[in-house]
Amino acid sequence: MTYTAPIKDMLFDMEHLAQIDQVAQIPGFEDAGLETAQAVLEECAKLCEGVVAPLNVPGDVNPSSFKDGVVTTTPGFADAFKQYAEGGWQGLQHPTDFGGQGLPKTIGAACIEMLNSANLSFALCPLLTDGAIEALLTAGSDELKSTYLEKLVTGEWTGTMNLTEPQAGSDLALVRTKAEPQGDGTYKVFGTKIFITYGEHDMADNIVHLVLARVAGAPEGVKGISLFVVPKFLVNQDGSLGERNDVHCVSIEHKMGIKASPTAVLQFGDNGGAIGYLVGEENRGLEYMFIMMNAARYAVGVQGLAVAERSYQHAVAYAKERVQSRPVDGSVKTSATIIHHPDVRRMLMTMRASNEGCRAMATTAAAAYDAAHHHPDPAVRQANQTFYEFMVPLVKGYSTEMSLEVTSLGVQVHGGMGFIEETGAAQYYRDAKILTIYEGTTAIQANDLVGRKTARDGGQTAKAIAAQIEKTEAELNTSGTDTAKAIAASLSLARQAFVKVVDFMVANAKATPNAAYAGSVPYLMLTGNLVAGWQMGRSALAAQAQLNLGQDAAFMQAKLTTAKFYAEHILARVPGQADAVLHGADSVMELPMDMF
Ligand SMILES: Cc1cc2nc3c(=O)[nH]c(=O)nc-3n(C[C@H](O)[C@H](O)[C@H](O)COP(=O)(O)OP(=O)(O)OC[C@H]3O[C@@H](n4cnc5c(N)ncnc54)[C@H](O)[C@@H]3O)c2cc1C
Repeated sequence: MTYTAPIKDMLFDMEHLAQIDQVAQIPGFEDAGLETAQAVLEECAKLCEGVVAPLNVPGDVNPSSFKDGVVTTTPGFADAFKQYAEGGWQGLQHPTDFGGQGLPKTIGAACIEMLNSANLSFALCPLLTDGAIEALLTAGSDELKSTYLEKLVTGEWTGTMNLTEPQAGSDLALVRTKAEPQGDGTYKVFGTKIFITYGEHDMADNIVHLVLARVAGAPEGVKGISLFVVPKFLVNQDGSLGERNDVHCVSIEHKMGIKASPTAVLQFGDNGGAIGYLVGEENRGLEYMFIMMNAARYAVGVQGLAVAERSYQHAVAYAKERVQSRPVDGSVKTSATIIHHPDVRRMLMTMRASNEGCRAMATTAAAAYDAAHHHPDPAVRQANQTFYEFMVPLVKGYSTEMSLEVTSLGVQVHGGMGFIEETGAAQYYRDAKILTIYEGTTAIQANDLVGRKTARDGGQTAKAIAAQIEKTEAELNTSGTDTAKAIAASLSLARQAFVKVVDFMVANAKATPNAAYAGSVPYLMLTGNLVAGWQMGRSALAAQAQLNLGQDAAFMQAKLTTAKFYAEHILARVPGQADAVLHGADSVMELPMDMF
């Protein structure tokens, strides 16, 4: 099954929702306007469609394998990664000082979507490398930066994130890996890390592990965790590769999905200690890791959108080809392609609307990130940072949960053939399931949304977003079309339900935490739903304006119809979701534990 990058939709979002022309006014991004975006996206699409996408099924059927400490990736992966690195794609969003292209995230995010639609397993290697780059850029010493950054940015080496241990998953306070200072500024690292994505592979010359560990004598809990660089091969003064470090892959996992991506158990220090270099200061590791995780969480949200988009394209192709049953409206007198049936249309529209909503949300968040990091005015930077931080758990949590709904519908559209592996529809569903688990499960994202992002500021950020939504409603109402009014009506009901829930969260998060946290995931889902629906409302306004100018009628009309569907079928879920939250913890926590 081929993949076609949805470039037109991506550019629409960049132009009308992210306002890329404003991003291009930020110093350093002067060349990053719509024209550049289009050129970059078209080039990226060639690589993703032509080289990476054809490896998706082979990766599932013939995953990475492990023998005697060596991991061999699916045939074709190493060559594709070479092309990816040589094309400069790893460095797209990274600073030119270290060999990157210095483009905004607003453009980079679309490229990440394409790569992940093409092949989720493949794209994980660059995703983790991006995280390692972010951590070093933020907290690494000049020496660490000069030793590692350029090689990572150019894709010569790759990066990993080593947090998880058998007893420490969601709860990183339980990390036990040890780091012993050697007196020469280096440390020796001892311990076991599990589930390390691309912890070992044959696609690059060196692997730069970023590892959470405790320095001897450090305080218990999260306050005693430090971050280290532990390279697979030590690096000589002249930058060449030296001795093999004492970090070894002891096995890789057999998984439900993303099978081509090797998930490694790594043993540090079995032969005397793995040499590690401290990143930043001792005991501030979790803080630095959060920088990496925020970048990675956003990217995992985009993974959700990406796999859902691929699943949608696959389902549309099947629905236009499979002939079954006479249409209920008699429009065809014999059995017809299943796309004639209203329920198949409902499924395809749900998939399409959810994807467009999640893409719109991710693109808007990316533009906020760019302004938060690069805008010359500190007040603008701060406002965008606050908005972006609110969006991260939504992009991660909501888009990945929706990717399960969408990929499940993708299987359903195929009927029995969806359950049979040959069609490929099932792979997307299996691949998507990890996205609600790693980089913090949906519950962990929801806890973040309730605690840090909503209750901490007394609901101020949430209410500021509600006020912006109200403005969009007013614009929709004054624009005068029936479609715009229908969207405004749905948005209004959803926003009012959201505001009630925000008040409930603020009142209960500290006072009666079980009441708030019993509804944390529904709160995350309704907020994601509302924010994506708001972006769909903005899309409808922009599409109507373009239609009025006589621009691209078929595309703009489809945008309006999809936005209306989103409002009527997906946004419409919000009041019900809000009701569930407002019931608090009673029926959730009432049953005694021994009744389970
Ligand atoms: C394929 C794969 C790749 C991975 N890649 C990496 C990687 O590269 N690097 C890395 O370090 N790790 C990686 N991980 C680990 C991953 O991040 C963890 O599995 C994940 O964070 C969940 O931790 P856990 O598995 O220990 O589950 P647990 O933490 O045991 O969670 C079990 C359940 O309890 C819930 N739960 C736990 N705590 C809370 C809470 N406070 N509130 C509400 N609910 C809670 C969870 O939501 C979940 O439903 C990977 C895992 C897999 C499967």
